[in-house]
Amino acid sequence: MPLEKYKQKRNFQKTPEPAGSPDAVRKSAAKTSDRFFCVQKHLASHLHYDFRLEHKGVLLSWAVPKGPSLDPKTKRLAMHVEDHPFEYGTFEGVIPEGYGAGIVMLWDQGTWTPQTHDVDAALKKGDLKFTLDGYKLKGSWVLVRTGGWGGGGGRSWLLIKHRDEWSGELDITEFAPLSVKSAGDFENILAADKPDIWQSHRPAKGGDAGKMLEAIIRKAVALKAGTTETKAPETKAKPSPAKKPAAPRKAAPSKKASSAKKRS
Ligand code: MN
Repeated sequence: MPLEKYKQKRNFQKTPEPAGSPDAVRKSAAKTSDRFFCVQKHLASHLHYDFRLEHKGVLLSWAVPKGPSLDPKTKRLAMHVEDHPFEYGTFEGVIPEGYGAGIVMLWDQGTWTPQTHDVDAALKKGDLKFTLDGYKLKGSWVLVRTGGWGGGGGRSWLLIKHRDEWSGELDITEFAPLSVKSAGDFENILAADKPDIWQSHRPAKGGDAGKMLEAIIRKAVALKAGTTETKAPETKAKPSPAKKPAAPRKAAPSKKASSAKKRS
């Protein structure tokens, strides 16, 4: 059964993620060209990038903790995960609870072309060469299965950029951090949904992801307050003489934001 693992992990009454219709699988499987690819930046218990290649009606998927690198010397660990439905490829939004709870941003999308006639054989061999034509990622790449190291029982692969006109030292995740769908950042995606969704139990509580999420929730609440209320609450914090002027990128904490900071 295609997508069995994907479906097992999710409750489609509770997640906005697509359930994967058999029709879409068939339609996509019948295509012979223009294979879709995407990278979704996913802030869940950890920040990672989900790299997906359309193949036979589904999206082959790898979770890349550090995201793709344009530098051929920088090999990025890519954990092979379950196939995703084709419709998942343009998903962007908030997963309020359950598996993968967090925020998904469509970070890049485009088409891919395998540099082999037999993708299944290449996957089996653990060496898939291909070209990408996305907004951010282009040119020649390879996914290679590691010989056991990296853990994960044969699920660890490396995503490596080949040297070509699209390779270089530019840190693409830093340089181009935003969505190719909405042009926004995580806080904009959250603000468009329900920023107060995680006031009691948020998906990532500790570590870097927890801190990042906390800041994003604060920004999203401030954004939402600014767009949905005719008068944003002007309840400024008491000016304290020692306080430095607010950094330009940080919104002043509103009443709502400070209550959102408290954990139940
Ligand atoms: Mn993910």
